[in-house]
Amino acid sequence: MTNQAKGFAVIERDLMLVEGYLSGETNEPPECELLDLDLRRTPLAEVRRALTQLRRGIYGTCVDCRGPVAIERLRVRPLTHLCKGCMHADEVNERARSARIR
Ligand SMILES: [Zn+2]
Repeated sequence: MTNQAKGFAVIERDLMLVEGYLSGETNEPPECELLDLDLRRTPLAEVRRALTQLRRGIYGTCVDCRGPVAIERLRVRPLTHLCKGCMHADEVNERARSARIR
């Protein structure tokens, strides 16, 4: 099993725990190993989207450049849509936009 596959397996397990909690199946907040999620702010739809992608084998693909998102990044931000490069570009654009508004 590759590191990527191991990482995905852990993320899938943790997301399933989070899904159970957010959908009200379990009352106790899940003890996730690596998800640093603020559970009250995590939309259930986002968790389900990630789980669907995991099951279809398309999880961890950047929506912008279609490149792979590094497993190290997914472990920290399992619901991210962007790879590091595109996220950085996005932040730069965001700063440029708010600079223009001001
Ligand atoms: Zn990208």
